[in-house]
Amino acid sequence: MAELIFPVPEPVLVPIRGGGAFPVRRIYCVGRNYAEHAREMGHDTREKPFFFDKPADAVLTGGAAMAYPPQTGDLHHEIELVVAIGRDGSDIAEAAALDHVWGYGVGLDMTRRDLQAEAKKAGRPWTFAKGFDQSAPLGELVGAEAIGHPQRGAIRLLVNGVERQRGDLGEQIWSVAETIAFLSRFVGLKAGDLIMTGTPAGVGAVSRGDALEGEIEGVGRVRTVIV
Ligand code: MN
Repeated sequence: MAELIFPVPEPVLVPIRGGGAFPVRRIYCVGRNYAEHAREMGHDTREKPFFFDKPADAVLTGGAAMAYPPQTGDLHHEIELVVAIGRDGSDIAEAAALDHVWGYGVGLDMTRRDLQAEAKKAGRPWTFAKGFDQSAPLGELVGAEAIGHPQRGAIRLLVNGVERQRGDLGEQIWSVAETIAFLSRFVGLKAGDLIMTGTPAGVGAVSRGDALEGEIEGVGRVRTVIV
């Protein structure tokens, strides 16, 4: 093997409830997957799913503090169900899609909303709006063998103890199985991939000092504080 000019970066690991860790390969995110949130962002609800991504090392775990990112004055929270892929596949049939899921978690798709608005207006990518450092605080993952495949359940986010977002997994426009089937027609999914499945209505800005606590019924929690 060729001599490495610097050490291989540490793998990105998400703790698993009860022990162990999930090594992260890629993070895909679904846009506008709850009708009420699509409407609050000014869109109708009948378009095909679309995706953007975050770098794997944007993950922040263990309730660690998130540094308020640079180049924004409008950092938003988006609470989301996270799907953890455990088995490789391409062109996955919807009926087989959940066989590729190892488990689930709760995550925050933190967003520089002002940069996203500029990018949308200019027809540019969302990289700086969505894929910045520490933009993906995640709670512990839990195996589907323990909780099954949740299709309903309250999803909510509190900021400093006050509820800001509330929805139900049953309100997702594209189910987890449909999302996996669609995504796997465009890219090969592999064990270690995470899919953030979109946020319910109520997104809004946070400031330094704010404590964020998210919860999905039957799945788990996520928390961070902005510093
Ligand atoms: Mn999102």
